[in-house]
Amino acid sequence: MEKLDIMSLFPDELEEEMVKISEKSGTTIEKYRSKQISSWLTKGVNSFDEMGNIPSKIKTVLQEYCFITLPQIEKKLVSKIDGTVKYLYRLYDGEFVESVFMRYEHGNTVCVSTQVGCRMGCTFCASTLMGLKRNLLPSEILGQVIAVQKDLGEKVSNIVMMGIGEPLDNYDNVKRFLALVNHKDGLNIGHRHISLSTCGLCDKIRELADEKLQITLSVSLHASDSETRKKLMPIAKKYDLDELIDACRYYIEKTGRRISFEYSMISGENDTPVHAERLSKLLQGMICHVNLIPLNDVKERSYTKSSKKAIDEFIKILEKKKIAATVRRRLGSDINASCGQLRAQNEQNK
Ligand code: SAH
Repeated sequence: MEKLDIMSLFPDELEEEMVKISEKSGTTIEKYRSKQISSWLTKGVNSFDEMGNIPSKIKTVLQEYCFITLPQIEKKLVSKIDGTVKYLYRLYDGEFVESVFMRYEHGNTVCVSTQVGCRMGCTFCASTLMGLKRNLLPSEILGQVIAVQKDLGEKVSNIVMMGIGEPLDNYDNVKRFLALVNHKDGLNIGHRHISLSTCGLCDKIRELADEKLQITLSVSLHASDSETRKKLMPIAKKYDLDELIDACRYYIEKTGRRISFEYSMISGENDTPVHAERLSKLLQGMICHVNLIPLNDVKERSYTKSSKKAIDEFIKILEKKKIAATVRRRLGSDINASCGQLRAQNEQNK
């Protein structure tokens, strides 16, 4: 019998499942128990044993029919510079993912992973080095937020889906996660406080647009011409730059939300004034914002970050062309806070 992933259920589904389990097991689980169980799961319990107000007979039945997927903290690194916390989590099947907790003025933010590994193959990224192992369950994405709240005793108000994995390559589970995390009886985090970052799966961007969610879409652009983008990101061979920009326009039209474009600055590859001019042209007239990210050096990768001078020049050109742009502040630089690196190290040491 396959056990039920109980943390991936909405409250009404949990209630229905409890009725079924009551029938199958011959042990009555009263209706009001669902609420109690739900509330324990949101607090972050590792086992049914920890559910204090649930009778042991019911706990035994739950244990038999369901499993809890709360990620376990395997490693925790705290930045001495800015208090950023990086977690390496062990999942129920022994796989690992990472999350990062950051304190911003606008609130406590968690960066979550959506897959174990990644199959997108971006040439500058540590997360994709060993390919894709599996998708995360909705509960495992949610569980990363719950585990942080439990560990720090602080409420998380913002979520960015910029950890390991490509969220739109795990579309159904990510969609369910977005609904779960927003649920009034769950963490109740508003979609306007959630960003989803994609390398540009155009079909899925359009599908997401049709959902008309109020989340912020971040698109990893990293290039202003087809050729450079294809060199950096294999996905650009499947979806050309024009197609991506069309999908972004569609997203803006459907949701009324501004898109945030991520642009990692890689020395000599995409950071010259010519690239900046081209980028301004590409994004002209679009409701968007450009986030320039100085490349994080990944030791397995050959690229290096752009100089401060190149970045300053680049942003000046964008500003002149009235394209809103900022350079991302790097948090947790002493703990290697960019995602994928801790898991990669851990895999090598296994
Ligand atoms: N798969 C999603 C989300 C994960 S990565 C995506 O591609 O958007 C979050 C962001 O970090 C992406 O913009 C990604 O391209 C960028 N990134 C990956 N490796 C990086 C590195 N070494 N330096 C700077 N940014 C990097």
